[in-house]
Amino acid sequence: MMDGFTRHLEQTLEAIRAEGLYKSEMVIGSAQQAEVTVSGRTMVNLCANNYLGLANDPEVVAASVAALEAYGSGMASVRFICGTHDLHKQLEQTVARYLEKDDAVLFGSCFDANGGIFETLLGPEDAIISDSLNHASIIDGVRLSKARRYRFATSDMDDLRLQLQAADDDGARFKLIVTDGVFSMDGFIARLPEICDLAEEYKAAILIDECHATGHLGEKGRGTPALTGVGNRVDIISGTFGKTLGGAMGGFIAGPAAVVDLLRQRARPYLFSNALPPAVVAGAIKAIEIAERADDRRAILDRHTKRFRAALAEAGFDLVPGETPIIPVMLHDAGRAQAMAQALRDAGVLVSAFSFPVVPKGEARIRTQMSAGLSDDNLTFAIDAFLRVGRQLGVV
Ligand SMILES: *Cc1c(COP(=O)(O)O)cnc(C)c1O
Repeated sequence: MMDGFTRHLEQTLEAIRAEGLYKSEMVIGSAQQAEVTVSGRTMVNLCANNYLGLANDPEVVAASVAALEAYGSGMASVRFICGTHDLHKQLEQTVARYLEKDDAVLFGSCFDANGGIFETLLGPEDAIISDSLNHASIIDGVRLSKARRYRFATSDMDDLRLQLQAADDDGARFKLIVTDGVFSMDGFIARLPEICDLAEEYKAAILIDECHATGHLGEKGRGTPALTGVGNRVDIISGTFGKTLGGAMGGFIAGPAAVVDLLRQRARPYLFSNALPPAVVAGAIKAIEIAERADDRRAILDRHTKRFRAALAEAGFDLVPGETPIIPVMLHDAGRAQAMAQALRDAGVLVSAFSFPVVPKGEARIRTQMSAGLSDDNLTFAIDAFLRVGRQLGVV
């Protein structure tokens, strides 16, 4: 390597360590589920995006295995050359029907879906009005587009109005409001009824990222539009198969036919990246089929969410208020969050500390996530551990 270059990188790494921001990987040796093994030790998992417990569901696995055996490991092509399989069309139709949209298009990930959509739909005459807490993939996607950018303070409807007005004053041709449906690090829900009202008043379109919502929130798991009663007033939805819907991988955009068709023509991650493997696609189709009728799993998830939140709040932990299965425990200081996460892992509860740049500096936290796959005993175990470790470390 170039003289001095690796030394420079090592110094950067040293600085990251010195700030207590260094992230190391926890290596799982079992399937992803309520109880996982990490370095040979069994732990209750509170940090997967496995909200309905479908990541290792036997029906999802069986559907994937059948497709793997029937169609092989992959397409070895992008979609538009010779990478489109029957199963891709089936999954696109399933997503569109599930989310009550005209059509849907698949991507390798939701990161790719968000990376490709803004540049494709909007030009320099247009405006994107984006919540300040939106996911990194939205921020990057917006950066890649030539549209003018406006940012509103998270969930601040007065600021959203100001930014819409500013876009109008600047002569924007089309305006697109974009927000996470559920904010992934904080777990609260976008104020969709008010956002829809403002969008109508200012004639703006709406895109929401439903990665932490589709499958487990709202009626039939149709996400935050169903939960907040706005239904089809949201124009475009992006989402993932890497969380609730089977936990494998893949992203999608669902929306009006023209939006989806143009993405097939122009979205760069769609045009220049390999098609999803049939096994992954078949698993996602099965996961949606299960999610749609999983009121039982959603009830368990809700029960766990309320119980865990209430127990930690009562013990005096500083929680971000909310109602979704994302329950962030605020420690503020990165070192303290790391220490608490380590102590919890030592006690057999798998959690992860989040610090800069994943969350702002001074807002380090342990983000816990509930799953319908967890048993009541798993929850009792995890709550006991939080209370004990919290007291030991003087957090509560
Ligand atoms: C996880 C997540 C993504 C990325 O999804 P992948 O399919 O894993 O790339 C995008 N947006 C939000 C809000 C997410 O939480």
